[in-house]
Formats: sequence, structure tokens, C-alpha cells
Amino acid sequence: MQTSRIFFKFLTCLFGCAIAASAFAAEPRQDLLAAAKQEQAALLTTLEQLCAIETGSRELAGLQKMSELLATRLRALGGEVEILEPAEVYRMDDTPEQLGRTVKAVFRGKGTKKLLLIAHMDTVYPAGMLARQPFGIREDRAYGLGIADDKQGLAVVLHSLAMLKGLGYQGYGQITVLFNADEEISSPGSRALLTRLGAEHDAVMSFEGSGAASDKLSLATAGIAAVSLTVHGRASHAGGAPQFGINALYELSHQILQMRDLSDPAIGLKLNWTMAKAGIVRNMIPPLATAEADVRVLRVADYEAIEQKLRQRIQNRLLSDARVELKFERRRPPLEATAANRAFADHAKQVYKELGLDLRVDAVAEGGGTDAAFAALRTQAPVVERFGLRGAGAHSSDAEYVLISSIVPRLYLAARMIAEFSEGRVPAR
Ligand SMILES: [Zn+2]
Repeated sequence: MQTSRIFFKFLTCLFGCAIAASAFAAEPRQDLLAAAKQEQAALLTTLEQLCAIETGSRELAGLQKMSELLATRLRALGGEVEILEPAEVYRMDDTPEQLGRTVKAVFRGKGTKKLLLIAHMDTVYPAGMLARQPFGIREDRAYGLGIADDKQGLAVVLHSLAMLKGLGYQGYGQITVLFNADEEISSPGSRALLTRLGAEHDAVMSFEGSGAASDKLSLATAGIAAVSLTVHGRASHAGGAPQFGINALYELSHQILQMRDLSDPAIGLKLNWTMAKAGIVRNMIPPLATAEADVRVLRVADYEAIEQKLRQRIQNRLLSDARVELKFERRRPPLEATAANRAFADHAKQVYKELGLDLRVDAVAEGGGTDAAFAALRTQAPVVERFGLRGAGAHSSDAEYVLISSIVPRLYLAARMIAEFSEGRVPAR
């Protein structure tokens, strides 16, 4: 009796374990899926509200209104909310005098894992464009100003949290939400905070949108820098006394030519001089000349290396009396594919498979950079981008939209990944 009971237990265990293993690949978590379906209509309503507020990175009144709305929503979900002034501002050429504030919310659970969820409330659109791109639904598309980039990100975060709250889920140790207001101008006032919070959490999920063409997550984004070169010479009459001048244009030309071979296709490093300006009038030896280069890198280390190389090169001058200044503006570091973010995304792929959907995991950076890279700068933890809805038309003058059919899968994915990670089923680093 005893033996057969043990044997029976052994059999049920074997059978049960087999079911559990196959269930992971095949069966969706019904409670989460039902919650995601239930949340779809509410998410669309939220999107309509978020799109009704114009939040260009320089539109402080709109950003203020948005930050208050989001703070209210996060508080209602049970978060401890702060609205933070920009701090440790990294000033670039186009950084406005005043920046919008960042909304931060902390949700405390009963587990141990700490997750950071990020999305941005600012858009590239100056005030006045809303009238031409009002919110509207046509077939599977929800249109709106800034809806894909990145109002959907705010909405997906809010409604994933609403799902978890509705189910009484508290398996996480802490979820921190960060909504910044300066992403589209390279995050001058929020980058330091993003990097610090990234390092304080066990995983970062970033909610930029996924493409309409492909349903994916991104492990890598491009690093972008701007180089400006300024040459100071000395003015003199070009006809009367050219010999007393120092020709800044000659020196600039020399500098550009000796720094034209710094691209390295093997590592995806691109450095191209794209703009130049010199002189005041035709009959004066030019006292000043400037040039700018666009830089793209795929690895953080290359970002450091290319700046060093530029600084070395400018030491070699054509005119010893000319003064050459170089400014290396770090617009945004690259996000690199790592074993940690790959493992996180591979797990997400399995979760997506439960819905019968294939999730692509992109390990190669495309054009743009995102805030995920700032969050990843000082951590070995997984940082994964594009947890948002599928959509298209970002940064264009018409027809930005998200796919309504991506709402349920993406809500399910986000909420399920929060739970999976919290319960230790995803490798942390
Ligand atoms: Zn964006």
C-alpha cells in the first residue's frame, strides 16, 4: 500500500511536472489574459486623454499638465509619487533654458526583486499640431499626436500596473515608474536619474513602441554624439596685409581632412563631417571657422575611444598659431546587447508564444537612440527596449498611430514579465 502510494505520487509528480513544463510553452495565464482583455477599452480612453495634451519637449505648460495627470493616475494605483525637478542637467547646444519635470512613482510589494519601468511624456511636436492630428480610431488603428512615441508607453505602464493591482498581485519587491519630459531632446535633465535608477534596480523595461511591421523587442540602440570644432585665427586685410592674419579656414580644412577617416564599419562606428562655416567678408582673412560632425556608435567603449582619438588628432595643426577647440556632445550612449538582456527577452519570447504570437528580438541597433541606454550605463542587469504597443509614424507630420490589436498581447507581456521576473524565473544578470 505504502509503496504503491509513493509510486503513485511519483507518477503524478512526473505527469504534473510534464504538464507544468508544457503549460509554460502553450497555455496563457488565463487570469492575466482576461485582465488584459478587460483593460483594452480603458487603455484606449487613457490614450485619448494623453493625446489631448500637447507635450512637445519645450511646451512647459502641457508637460506640467501631463505630469499632474500621470501623478494622479499613479497615486490611484497605489504608488508613492514624486514630481522631480531636472537635476544634474547636461547642457547641449539645443537644451532649452527650462525643462519639464519628471514623474517618479514607487510601488512596494511583498517580494524582493526591483523593476524599473520607463517611458517618456514629451513629443517632438511644437504646440498647435494637435488640431491637425486629433485622436481617432479607424479599423485596427488608433491615431493621435505622439501616440506611438511615446504616449502609448505611458498608457501600457499604467494599465499593466492596473492589471496587477486588479489581480491583487504583489510578488515584486519594488516597481519604480519613471516618466520623463525631455527624451526627445536627448534627456538633458533626466539622464543622470535614469542612470542612477537603472543601477539600483534588478531589471529595466523600457516602453518605446514596437514597429507596425514587426512585433519585437530591442536589445540594442544606437549611441549618438555631435562633434563641434571651432578654430580661432586672426583677422587681417586679405589684400593689404594677409601675412598678419591666421587663416582659420585653412586650419579647419586641415583638421577635417585629417579626421575624415575615423569611421570603422567593422564595429559600426560612423563619423561624418556634415556642416562647416567660416569667414565674415571676402576681403578679410577669416578669424573664425566652425564645423560639425555626426557620430554613431554601437558600444559604450567606442564612445569613449572616439572622443580620445579626436582630442589627439587636433593636436596636429597646420598653423601653429591657430587655436583649435573641440566639443564632444554626448547626445545618447548606445544600448548594448548583453547575455542579461538577451535572457530577459528570450523569456519574453516564450511568454508571447503562449498567445500563439512570435516576438522578434533585435540585437542590432537601428537608427535611433533611446533612454534605455542611459538606464543601462552603470548596470549588469537586463535592460530591454520596446515593450510598448506596435505602431508607426513617429516624428512625422501626419498619421502617427498604434495597432489596437497589439494592446492585449503587449499588456499581457508586460504584466506577465513583471510577475515572471519577480518570482525569479528570469535570470537577473
Ligand atoms: Zn520615444
